[in-house]
Amino acid sequence: MQHLSRGSPARCAICGATEATAGTFPMVVGVGRVCMADGMRKVKCEGCGNEVNLLTSSKLQGRTLCLSDYMKELEKYRQHLVVSFDEEREAAASILSRALGEAPSGYVLISVRRGRNSTHVWEAEYEKEEVFQMKCS
Ligand SMILES: [Zn+2]
Ligand SMILES: [Zn+2]
Repeated sequence: MQHLSRGSPARCAICGATEATAGTFPMVVGVGRVCMADGMRKVKCEGCGNEVNLLTSSKLQGRTLCLSDYMKELEKYRQHLVVSFDEEREAAASILSRALGEAPSGYVLISVRRGRNSTHVWEAEYEKEEVFQMKCS
């Protein structure tokens, strides 16, 4: 008998293909895990009209957006940004350094914590730089 493996193979949210090794399908915000073939597929950003890979797009309230439009949309109503990292996909140490090193532009990392009701999801919380600076100066 095998131990319960950390994370079972995900299925592609687009075509339903199952990944060969758990954790290889990248996560697309608002879409889910996708296979590489679907991830490389072009989608049209509903914000600026540019074509981007599905992988670098995000879905927000039903709209497909490129990364920069996604950030703009979020900014409109959010001074805080929470990015989730899955410990089933990478080590906690790597999540921490990535959360710090890959902060969305214009945002400052203020905390990294366990996701609510989850044993493997981490949430990195960012705050808009202007807000952050106002509080600190
Ligand atoms: Zn697929
Ligand atoms: Zn765009």
